[in-house]
Parts: sequence; C-alpha cells; structure tokens
Amino acid sequence: MEPNGAIQSVRLSSELGDSLPVLVAEDNPIFQSMLKSMLTKWGYAVRMAHNGLEAWEAMQAPDAPRLAVLDWMMPYMDGVEVCRRIRAVAREPYVYVLLLTAKTESADLVEGMEAGADDYLTKPFNAQELRVRLRAGRRILDLQEQLMQAREALRVQATHDALTSLLNRGRVLEILHGEIARSERELRPLSVLMVDLDHFKRINDTRGHQAGDEVLREASRRMKSAMREYDSPGRYGGEEFLIVLPGCAARDGYAQAERVREAFAREPFPAGPEPVAVTCSIGVSSRDVCTAEDADSLIREADEALYAAKHNGRNRVAEFARQESSTPNSELANLASFSRA
Ligand SMILES: [Mg+2]
Repeated sequence: MEPNGAIQSVRLSSELGDSLPVLVAEDNPIFQSMLKSMLTKWGYAVRMAHNGLEAWEAMQAPDAPRLAVLDWMMPYMDGVEVCRRIRAVAREPYVYVLLLTAKTESADLVEGMEAGADDYLTKPFNAQELRVRLRAGRRILDLQEQLMQAREALRVQATHDALTSLLNRGRVLEILHGEIARSERELRPLSVLMVDLDHFKRINDTRGHQAGDEVLREASRRMKSAMREYDSPGRYGGEEFLIVLPGCAARDGYAQAERVREAFAREPFPAGPEPVAVTCSIGVSSRDVCTAEDADSLIREADEALYAAKHNGRNRVAEFARQESSTPNSELANLASFSRA
C-alpha cells in the first residue's frame, strides 16, 4: 500500500543549524588541517577523507553529506572521478560538489565542470571566498529540497483522494493493471472487491453533506483497518470503493470482503451530533491466474456481484461465480450470491 497522504518531510540544510555535514577530501596535510579548522569554525560538521577512494566510499554511505569539497589531485582516485561517480548514481537528494584545484588552464576546468562539479576554487584560495561559495551551495541544496517536497506533495495529490486520503480512481486502476500483470507472470491469484455504502444518499439528505463526508472518511478508515498491508483500497466513485487484493483466490477474497462488511456493521458511524448505522454491500470477483484482458472483466464482474448483493437486501457480500464448463449466455445467470444473515 502506498504511503497514505503522508508527505515525507525533508529537512532543509538551513534547518540543520550550522552543523551541516560536509565531506572534505584532500591529500595534502597542510590543506587538510587548514580546511578542517576553517569549516569547523564556520559551523560545518567536517568529515575528512585523505584520498579519492576514501572520499568515494564516504559518499556511498546512506548518511553521506550532501555537500562535498573535493581536491582535484589525490591518490587512488582524483576529485574529478569522484565527482563523476557521484553524478553517475544520480541519487537524491542532490550532492553539491565544490572542486579545489591548483590547475589554472581553462581546458582542465571544463573537464571538472563536465564531470558534474557545481563550482570550483583555485588553490591557493581566499578563506572568505570559500565561505561564501559554500553558502551558495547550501542555498542550492535548500532550493532542491523545497522542490522535492513540492514534487512529493504533488505526487500525493495526484494519486490520492482529498477527502478520504485513499488512493484515487486513476491510481487504484493503475495498481489493478500492475497486479494483473504480476498475477499472470507469477501465476498467483487476484481478487477485487467493489464496495458500495448502502443508502448513502439518505445520510446526505437527512444529515447534510458534512455528516456524509464524515461517514466516507470513517468508511475509509474501517476499510483500511480491515486490509492487509499490501492490499490497495481506492475511492472509485462517490460512495463506491475498489479494493485490489493481490494473492487472494476467491475464498480469501470473499473472507476479506466479509471482514470489511463486518467492520462497517459492527458499530454505528460518527456523523455529526448523532451516530448513524452504516452498512455496505460488496461484490467480489477473482481469478486464480489473470490474463492481460482481465482488468475490465474483473471490474464488471465485481460490479454485477455488487448489484446482486444490493438486490438481495444489502449489508452482504456476493461473489461472481464463473462457470468454466458451460457457455455463459447470460452472465447474470452465473451470479451466485451468498446471502448472509
Ligand atoms: Mg591534492
């Protein structure tokens, strides 16, 4: 199941106070101690690497700094190669790389920048210049993180229903297609449930839309709590929900549907000043193994089973029974609906 509406929060480097971790890779002991004492004084948490290989290893750690000051000429691996490797893995969040170089020829600098360095400084350098360039790097990192947060918020918005924070229709259908492909590939069963709240219009009409919204949110919570972690419930329409159950054959799909039905019927829903009894009807359709064409037919069958559940008195689960041996002239004739007391 996807993270439901939870926007992963990323801490900006400015929120880390002054203790932003920075990797300093330098092989010359004099520059090592100079850089370390300067950056520490400016408030950075310095991690020192003494050659290119150490630098590359440090940058592969899960908690690797996002700011790196790399000397160009180092034993085992030069700074440009470290930079090239950092860019090749293209991880997020972005790593800001400042190259230190004693080289002054412009062709060399082009090589460094083309390897993916963000900035460079020629040795010997002015301390204040290094300080402001690092600050510029931090600003870039902050902007990049704000962008990532905005993108994550957009992703959640685009894939989730605003009212219930369940998956939206588009996303749950995408997941259904993905699970059908997986069922075909791994020869695993798949079930889908079509859940519809009984007499929902009555709640809206008698108690108002706010109470109706409260019921929809509570319905989503109960559905989710009745699900396994890898099930995908989504809001399909107004008061209709589609649930994809990977790995569930007909019997398990039916049992899952019963759990959802019971979770609704067990106790009344909060809906404004007075709680209200809410039930749901559920149609189940299943495949032992899917084929690519099954997306439409699974939904149609679940819909027809849902119709039968409604027709037989609501607050019940019905499953679509496919007769493999006979020619299905009328699919409705194949509906076996299981009434529950
Ligand atoms: Mg060097």
